[in-house]
Amino acid sequence: TAVEIQQIRRKLPEWVAASVPFAEGGKVASYIPELAGAPHDALGITLINADGDLITEGSCGRRFTVQSISKLFTLILALMDIGEDRVFEKVGMEPTGDNFNSVLKLELVRPGIPFNPLINAGAITVSALIRGSDPEEKTERILQFMRALANNDHLRVDLDVYRSEADTGNLNRSIAYLLKQNKVLDGDVEEVLDVYFRHCSIAVDCADLARMGLVLACNGTDPLTGKSLIPRRYVQIAKTFMTTCGMYNASGEFAIQVGLPAKSGVSGGILSLVPGRYGIGVYGPALNNKGNSQAGVHLLEIMSRELNWSMF
Ligand code: GLN
Repeated sequence: TAVEIQQIRRKLPEWVAASVPFAEGGKVASYIPELAGAPHDALGITLINADGDLITEGSCGRRFTVQSISKLFTLILALMDIGEDRVFEKVGMEPTGDNFNSVLKLELVRPGIPFNPLINAGAITVSALIRGSDPEEKTERILQFMRALANNDHLRVDLDVYRSEADTGNLNRSIAYLLKQNKVLDGDVEEVLDVYFRHCSIAVDCADLARMGLVLACNGTDPLTGKSLIPRRYVQIAKTFMTTCGMYNASGEFAIQVGLPAKSGVSGGILSLVPGRYGIGVYGPALNNKGNSQAGVHLLEIMSRELNWSMF
């Protein structure tokens, strides 16, 4: 509502300022130099609603790579490409309680299928399901899809981040080969990993995330262009995974403290949404020990409490 927009505009500077100090206890991802160089106490947020009102506060101009947030869009694209039945032959629907890059449960479950599509093992499996004759074509299709959702033709792969991800991704490589050995992954393992590293390295800003979140908030239709971009059923699946698995092994706590669908990435981005109302993009590179933006989560907690946003 207009009243709520006004309240957000008035209070957001205060809420952001109150959240910035929480970055202090966090750590910027340091496994590659491109992420390690991110500003430790940066915090930015953009919200956009179905009327196109845009609210932005803090360090929002900065671009960053989507990292795990891309897992949402590869899941949706795979669902659109090959349908629900075939996707869920390859990945499960349950949270793991383990770290996002864990190999622990890959040997133990059924024929070794990943628990869900938002952990690394699940997302690597999903990368193999995207239509396209080679990694370039698959990546291009993922990019085109994300460009349509963000309404931004300029989205690109950050090649420096991509090369570093590919050079240092030994754990992801181990996961992929284990999946190949277990016959979960078909095709050339290095090509699948190439698609995965590339889609993790797509650069965005808070406004891009907010716009993509708005499409999910509006069940797959961009309310500002009227374009129908995702079938409603697949948005429902994606939002359910966001709620149960989107913040890794802190998804339960996030559901209690914030109560909104969200997906985080290791560069400090969070894509969230208020169903039917707002798309939200947050950036705060200092992470807590679960790999979520420390200040970003705090900011969403304040907003959800103050504005009574929890779905529950
Ligand atoms: N590129 C990262 C990885 O594969 C993405 C994970 C994340 O954002 N948590 O480890």
